[in-house]
Amino acid sequence: MQKLELLYEGKGKKLYKTEDENLLVAEFKDDLTAFNAEKRGNEEGKGALNCKISTQLFALLEEHDIKTHLVKTLDDTTQLVKKVKIIPIEVVVRNIATGSLSKRLGIADGTVLPFTLVEFYYKDDSLGDPILNDEHCLMLDLVKSESDLEELKRLGRQINVIMKKFFEERRLKLVDFKVEFGVDKEGNILLSDEISPDSCRFWDMDTNEKMDKDRFRQGLGNVKVAYEEVLKRILEKQ
Ligand code: UDP
Repeated sequence: MQKLELLYEGKGKKLYKTEDENLLVAEFKDDLTAFNAEKRGNEEGKGALNCKISTQLFALLEEHDIKTHLVKTLDDTTQLVKKVKIIPIEVVVRNIATGSLSKRLGIADGTVLPFTLVEFYYKDDSLGDPILNDEHCLMLDLVKSESDLEELKRLGRQINVIMKKFFEERRLKLVDFKVEFGVDKEGNILLSDEISPDSCRFWDMDTNEKMDKDRFRQGLGNVKVAYEEVLKRILEKQ
């Protein structure tokens, strides 16, 4: 399937039209941004690593009956995906407090949360992706009904259960992650976008070393080495 004109360019990916109006090509970029793009970088080969990692994780979730937009991988950096209308809500799922949660509520970094926390953020860069409650989501018409919000929470939790176990078996703690969903032309809610060290926090179970985008954001170096290690661990037990 050939990629045709560019439809959209985001921070981590470009989306192209194809001859089939129901399918798009997603191309993973090497760019890295931190804190609403105020710090930018580029890590050669990162796009290919994220494409491989995300493909593996979407396949894992499909095996557990989570419906996704992924059709197939085309080459190192591109995937063929179903065209969906993205729900402009970032669903963040957390097992351990860190990042904006620690900052906002004063919970010590690294605290294991008493239960899995699901949060919604408004996918709007110009507003700085503010946190939303259910009523905000309904007031802004981000979803059709309250039951869609319940479905997003249920899917976020289910994805967490599957991935947390998968990464524990690979000596990585799944600290938190962000997922996005889209609606296809039949009205199904599909997991979309990507799941990668750009959108998840992984800490090594033995050393607590950060193995994700925080290496870039916090200037820890060896970003690509960490992403390669995550991919290696994903692949080694299959
Ligand atoms: N996240 C993301 N994209 C965003 C914001 C957050 O992928 O635009 C992910 C982030 O990588 C982390 C989780 O969502 O795994 C929670 O992020 P947090 O709210 O702590 O914000 P941060 O401290 O990353 O700014």
